[in-house]
Amino acid sequence: MSPLSLQVSEVWFLTGSQHLYGDDTLRQVQAHADEIVRGLNASGELPLPIRGRAILTTPDAITRTLREAGTDSSCAGVIVWMHTFSPAKMWISGLNSLRRPLLHFHTQFNRLIPWESIDMDFMNLNQSAHGDREFGFACTRLRLNRKVVVGHWADPAILPPMRNWMRAARAWHDWQGMRVARLGDNMRAVAVTEGDKVAAENRFGFSVDGYGVGDLACIQKDLTDEAVDALVGEYLDTYAVAPTLQPDGPRHRDLREAARIELALLTFLKERGCAAFTTTFEDLHGLRQLPGLAVQRLMAAGYGFAAEGDWKTAALLRAMKVMAADAPEGVSFMEDYTYHFDESGGQVLGSHMLEICPSISEGQPKLEIHPLGIGGKEDPVRLVFDCPAGAALNASLIDLGNRFRLVVNTVEALKPESPLPRLPVARTLWRPLPDLPTAAAAWILAGGAHHTGFTRALRAETLGDFAEMAGIEFLLIDETCRLPDLKDRLRWNDLYHHLAHGLGHT
Ligand code: MN
Repeated sequence: MSPLSLQVSEVWFLTGSQHLYGDDTLRQVQAHADEIVRGLNASGELPLPIRGRAILTTPDAITRTLREAGTDSSCAGVIVWMHTFSPAKMWISGLNSLRRPLLHFHTQFNRLIPWESIDMDFMNLNQSAHGDREFGFACTRLRLNRKVVVGHWADPAILPPMRNWMRAARAWHDWQGMRVARLGDNMRAVAVTEGDKVAAENRFGFSVDGYGVGDLACIQKDLTDEAVDALVGEYLDTYAVAPTLQPDGPRHRDLREAARIELALLTFLKERGCAAFTTTFEDLHGLRQLPGLAVQRLMAAGYGFAAEGDWKTAALLRAMKVMAADAPEGVSFMEDYTYHFDESGGQVLGSHMLEICPSISEGQPKLEIHPLGIGGKEDPVRLVFDCPAGAALNASLIDLGNRFRLVVNTVEALKPESPLPRLPVARTLWRPLPDLPTAAAAWILAGGAHHTGFTRALRAETLGDFAEMAGIEFLLIDETCRLPDLKDRLRWNDLYHHLAHGLGHT
């Protein structure tokens, strides 16, 4: 991704055993664990480094290590594996104090049973089938959310689920202590962008603070011409800049104004340590344009963003950008804008007034200026582009009043049939799965927002892992979706979450 630096983080690999087996066996257990960690790290397929820890054989060591995971700021999650039989009562205290996402890796050092030579020593040294079930019982008994990945450690098939979990763990880690700046409040009477910011901080770990947009105007006053010149030079080098915006063009002054907004926004966010932000076109006191280009470029630099005060989508977008930091495809703020009710199942044209992230662009974006029908300000400068085809998804985080729900719809991004020459904004086109009538009905029944995070970089599994880490509902609308089943799931999920979190003690 990202000029916006991510915290350096790693995942710990914890191996369980016990002293029953004797020192020789435990030395072998440690050697096996070390080899597995080396193998996983050498795969090149996992986004975070794995750090192997000393094997755990006593309740004290287990509790100490799991507590340490929660206080070590570089630890984004723990992978746990029972090489042999580790009585799970030893793990209760530690698991109860674990403050990091948990992946239970159910593997075995030896891949195949050596039919000719197998004896009881071999059986005792390769009994994860036995030990991991004991550990699994303890996790289930303690009602712990976790991911279980099963397979031989050298089998490439275990890497995608592990990678998806690591991506989610990295984003979850990033959310802890994250700051979201809300420039201006809600827009008009929009409902879905509202929500309980105290509940969000309690559940998710990030805080949302409101600021007046006049703060940006104050920073703008102190910008130097040299800084503006340098940024305009970067625009000219990076994009296909419209002739009117070129240095000798009649609208060049507007391009310089856009650069001043970008510099002010970046300074503002850096000074406050914010990783995500919102704007609203209803409140632009002191700004001459609605921030378009600035927002697009800050998103491309890794900042979470959503328009119209939508802080939940801004935070989600930042999380999706962190999840996808090792992927080339990019992530953008998105809005379902216009439908195409064709015979092929229906299509959605997604866009926004201005603020689509160029990280999802196909080819070099065009830098243009056009009038904006709302907001009553000067014409905003913006990047215009199309997006590539391929499997993608839209995600939305909503506040149901007593809890949060993460809704994901898998979609097939499409190339437009024709070039849309009169549409002056970045856009993408997709066919929702299983089809537009079913997907849109499901989305509406689930209460999904019109604002989403859109990406080709992530699979739904990663968002599902993320929802588990947060302890919130995950509702997937994919090719298997049937509306009667979905309605049942919504009702059952309501009941489950009401019982699980009813009095707010968890
Ligand atoms: Mn909007």
